[in-house]
Amino acid sequence: MFNRSRKIACSHCHGDNFWKGDPAPTDELACRYCNAFITTYDDYIHNFIRVEAARMLAQFMETDSERDLAMLKHALSQQRPPRPLRVSKPYLPVIR
Ligand SMILES: [Zn+2]
Repeated sequence: MFNRSRKIACSHCHGDNFWKGDPAPTDELACRYCNAFITTYDDYIHNFIRVEAARMLAQFMETDSERDLAMLKHALSQQRPPRPLRVSKPYLPVIR
């Protein structure tokens, strides 16, 4: 589910780089090919969480809209107006 390889592409040469071990938030990743600064671990984690959160939200929204569409199709196939939600009162005989 998650990208556990912690792979990150260099924005300069597009080479694949990887976080190793347990980096501190202030640790910086430099490209192993062109030696350019890529990101700090803190920024990497924040970006990673943002991307994963967006992906998961998109999945949930997809699921919901599919279910909503199915419900809508079902409702339209009924061909009659929806019943009022008013709860009928119990019958009380009027004593005169
Ligand atoms: Zn590079």
